[in-house]
Amino acid sequence: MRFINLTRRTEIGANAYFLELGGKKLVLDAGLHPKEEGEAALPNFRLVQDGSLDAILVSHAHQDHVGSLPVLMRRHPQALVFMTDPTAKLSDVMLHNSVNVMLRQREELGIAIYPLFTHREMERAVEAWQTVGFRQHWTLEGERVPGPDHGLTFEMYESGHILGAAGILLRGEQKTVFYTGDVNFLEQTLMRSAEFPETGIDVLIIETTRGDRALASGYSRKGEESRFLAAIQAAFERGGSILIPVFALGKTQELLTMLYLFKRQGELKHAPIYIGGLSTKITIVHDQLASRVSRQYEGLQLLDSIEPRVLNSRDISKTPVGRGKIFALSSGMMTEKTLSNQFADRLLGDARQSLFFVGYADPDSPAGRLKSAQMGDLVQLGEGMPSRELACQVSVFDFSAHAPRELLLEYIRKVSPKVVVLVHGDPPAVSWFESKISTELPGVKVVVPLPGIEYEF
Ligand SMILES: [Zn+2]
Ligand SMILES: [Zn+2]
Repeated sequence: MRFINLTRRTEIGANAYFLELGGKKLVLDAGLHPKEEGEAALPNFRLVQDGSLDAILVSHAHQDHVGSLPVLMRRHPQALVFMTDPTAKLSDVMLHNSVNVMLRQREELGIAIYPLFTHREMERAVEAWQTVGFRQHWTLEGERVPGPDHGLTFEMYESGHILGAAGILLRGEQKTVFYTGDVNFLEQTLMRSAEFPETGIDVLIIETTRGDRALASGYSRKGEESRFLAAIQAAFERGGSILIPVFALGKTQELLTMLYLFKRQGELKHAPIYIGGLSTKITIVHDQLASRVSRQYEGLQLLDSIEPRVLNSRDISKTPVGRGKIFALSSGMMTEKTLSNQFADRLLGDARQSLFFVGYADPDSPAGRLKSAQMGDLVQLGEGMPSRELACQVSVFDFSAHAPRELLLEYIRKVSPKVVVLVHGDPPAVSWFESKISTELPGVKVVVPLPGIEYEF
């Protein structure tokens, strides 16, 4: 089996991994880097000869896994593209939105190669995608087979990360390879935990996002939800509103489910909730599939139950921050020009207002800088934007959609593969796993795949 890491650095970055197994060539995921621009945001697709792939397999619809799929498809028009049905529906929304973002960036930042693909190209791409169910055996020719004894086959397993997210099991050459994609072994409010295979895996390619931090002692999702509710109530008592920067896909729907539960329990009354246009489109997909996928609160229609108000970039500057309102706006990292960034500028300096963080933010992003700032510090939301003295209340909650490192290690221990390949983590995260595995699991060979280098397992 040949393996090449197509990312440009060892980091969370833009995921894409080349595999050759059982005489077939395939790429797992085709992401786009959330922080880089232009060519640098793409994986290094040049490492794979154009027109040579048999298939592209997508684990889930987050940008860092699917954001460059149309570019990879253009290079390999003959390759079949596989993903679960929810991932296809969500990727459709995400990638069309991405075209709009790139068109704006071309105009504002003068990035000449944007958009990397067009709406037309996206429409054609979506038609070519082949959707597959969880726990079904498929060949790379797109044929569903009853079992794994048909050359190279693959099978998707629920990864518990976001709607439709899958770990991908490949069988061929008498070898079994499992790629986790992004995984959560803990129940979230809406998503159930991963159901992954635990035996017979030779090569385990595993994400390491949370490898740099230990899980807080005594952590439980329920406990965190209660702490979150108490903080919302305290924020309203101070006479202000709350801004929660969230990713449009995944975190927004988890948050809406929590708010629905608080309302249903009578703990949260008359609190208007605002979300952005992209979040609304993605929530519509969640509602459409509410009875057709494995999740908590089957059938729950989030938009009907919560009746969120929709904000776009045109009316955000006119919407009063006011009191008693919840603004759940993307992006989660408060990237410049996004709704959460624009709105934050209006409440940072006001002691009655609150800013709640509920997920991961890159330390160099505006959200990352605010998370580590102290009250009274001068903070800046972006280049050329005015500095403000931080006066609003800042609170941090752990509603991560990724498994804590302790449970990832536990999983590696259970699987006990011949080789474990560490991906999708920044260097400190990867190092933690590398040293833990080499001291605690001496029978397992650990590989931190250098970008662009070919490995033979
Ligand atoms: Zn993800
Ligand atoms: Zn990811």
